[in-house]
Amino acid sequence: MSYIGRFAPSPSGPLHFGSLVAALGSYFQAKSQQGQWLVRIEDLDPPREMPGAASLILETLEAYQLHWDGEVVYQSQRHDLYQHQIEHWLQSGQAYYCQCTRKQIKATGGFYQGTCRDLTLNQPDNCAIRLKMTHPIYQFEDEKHGQLTIPTALADEDFIIKRRDGLFAYNLAVVLDDIDQGITEVVRGADLIEPTGRQISLYHMLGKAPVSYLHLPLALGDNGQKLSKQNHAPAIDNRNPKPALLDAMRFLGFEMPQDIKQLSVSEIIDWGVKNWHLQQLPASIEITPRFSNRSP
Ligand code: GLU
Repeated sequence: MSYIGRFAPSPSGPLHFGSLVAALGSYFQAKSQQGQWLVRIEDLDPPREMPGAASLILETLEAYQLHWDGEVVYQSQRHDLYQHQIEHWLQSGQAYYCQCTRKQIKATGGFYQGTCRDLTLNQPDNCAIRLKMTHPIYQFEDEKHGQLTIPTALADEDFIIKRRDGLFAYNLAVVLDDIDQGITEVVRGADLIEPTGRQISLYHMLGKAPVSYLHLPLALGDNGQKLSKQNHAPAIDNRNPKPALLDAMRFLGFEMPQDIKQLSVSEIIDWGVKNWHLQQLPASIEITPRFSNRSP
């Protein structure tokens, strides 16, 4: 089977160092196996999006010479696929409406206890839609980290597939898209280890074979928190890509010759594809990156 990987950024802001690590790791893993590397813009949640971020992200990928295969896919254009599956599950009784508020769930210990499962609520207004959990996943195999464990209460929960505000849930969209796009392996940041259990459950409930998973170390800021758009992590530079590119490659465990700086960005990327080995990738889940001196 030929390898198909992907990079799936949410357009909540420009790419930062952490998302560059995810883009590079997924690219090297795909291209070192002569695979395809797809890009999917996960624009499922308009209130959290930044206008113009999607095109900015694509421009950044181009500036870093990360060229994707095929057309870019936008989740905002794929609502029919998600809705169709939800309706199928509602009809078969596998999904149901739930009126519990976050506050009520918090008051009963933080995990949803199945309160609405047998109520057969049928007015969609002001309700979320949940999926009956028939295939809980308590652990899975990661390509780098080996066996990873999912907390039982989380794995057992009937999770939300469509939110009360009408937005589709991330886990559902990701799995339906990964299946539809023929993805064979998901490479992404270690912040997504926990949702992986639910995603594997979805594959089982859809009667499909799950993909394999590789979670990359998470880049932490000086404050010890994950670098993220929500934390206002600085955007990486599009006009002068080499410093961030080399820092991100060092973060991924590459030992690079001193004179690599003399190469062009696309030559550095090619060097990365040829020299990518999973063994060199650090085994830690979280790392505070060391940035080289960025002054010219
Ligand atoms: N869209 C998610 C993010 O930007 C990544 C989803 C995934 O790789 O599965 O964090």
